[in-house]
Amino acid sequence: MDKLIVKDVDLKDKTVLMRVDFNVPQDAALNITDDTRIKAAVPTIKYVLENGARRLVLMSHLGRPDGKRVDKYSLRPVAQRLSGLLGEAVNFLDDCAGNEVKKAIDSSKERVILLENLRYHPEEEANDADFSKQLSSLADIYINDAFGTAHRAHASTEGVTHYLKAAAGLLLEKEIKYLGDALINPVRPFVVILGGSKVSDKIGVIENLLPKADCIIIGGGMSYTFLKAQGKQIGNSKLEKEKIDLAKNILEKAEELKKEILLPIDHVVVDNIAKDARYEVVGEIIPDGKIAVDIGPKTIALFKDKLRLAKTIVWNGPLGIFEMDVFSKGTEEIAEFIACLKCVSIIGGGDTAAAVSKFKLEDKMTHISTGGGASLEFLEGKILPGIVALTDK
Ligand code: ADP
Ligand code: MG
Repeated sequence: MDKLIVKDVDLKDKTVLMRVDFNVPQDAALNITDDTRIKAAVPTIKYVLENGARRLVLMSHLGRPDGKRVDKYSLRPVAQRLSGLLGEAVNFLDDCAGNEVKKAIDSSKERVILLENLRYHPEEEANDADFSKQLSSLADIYINDAFGTAHRAHASTEGVTHYLKAAAGLLLEKEIKYLGDALINPVRPFVVILGGSKVSDKIGVIENLLPKADCIIIGGGMSYTFLKAQGKQIGNSKLEKEKIDLAKNILEKAEELKKEILLPIDHVVVDNIAKDARYEVVGEIIPDGKIAVDIGPKTIALFKDKLRLAKTIVWNGPLGIFEMDVFSKGTEEIAEFIACLKCVSIIGGGDTAAAVSKFKLEDKMTHISTGGGASLEFLEGKILPGIVALTDK
């Protein structure tokens, strides 16, 4: 990687400003229901503390307060949880910029400080130069470990880098390494699995990966627009009419490039989408009125046959309505199969990551991206503003 990483910089006696992604889910009583994101930042936090930093100032957003102070989006509960995870006190400040904040940091008895929600200030998302300067004045050096917001040019992800030396944290470095290597230098055969609900969400990913991959497997809701483009009967399954031509173009382009695209050959279908709906397996023809909610057993076997030989797999998008247990079989069987393969397996996309974690296979994948939207933009080949902005090596 051509950008500075935390291991390249001298942290001794420095005050470090670090952007993390503490945008955690909470219940109505504001209890944190999943602390994966807090845990994910701990290695870099520990690294900074163990390498002599004097103070570590953490900043993040939580939810969408839209530039106003909204109590339910306070990061205070996160400070408490983080303190438990680190085994040391965390000083929580109830704002993120200004003189009072600066003074509180300079006199903090605790070495770890968490600032209040960045998005209480509209200047954060507007990437305001003054606000960026204020944030940067809080510290000597900046580290970005928030891959989940790296696709946004905000004050805390891009603006600050104009005023401070900027390095990637360990989590960000790992994301760039795995996603980047898979795209730039994949060990072949390189198979991409695309699923999820909509073709329109994934066009950029298909167009970027079609020339790079050896084979693209398409399942889930988006596959029915492709099947329709081939003239197949898809019943009432998910269809984006205005994307049929685009799907045709992609299929033609794949042929030109001699790239294989695999589509489902049988389906689990229902009359209406409900947990307790009566379901049946049908072949290539989906009868009128029926909705396909999962790939069928022949498709699972077909996809496995292709994946068996893969040396790199990138997977974005579930292959059925996995949130309902009865329709999660296709996604689960493919996930379990990949988990047993000796290959590089990379999972991108919020729902795909949630599916893998639902099946308790997190530890069996090479890399599960922590950034939903950011991982998609990375797979689309876009340059992420939070990454380009880091200081060059
Ligand atoms: P990711 O967040 O991993 O990028 P998406 O958001 O694109 O994935 O897609 C996830 C959604 O796709 C899930 O909510 C799932 O229920 C839905 N989905 C998968 N297969 C189907 C299908 N056959 N019909 C309708 N929706 C589907
Ligand atoms: Mg999603």
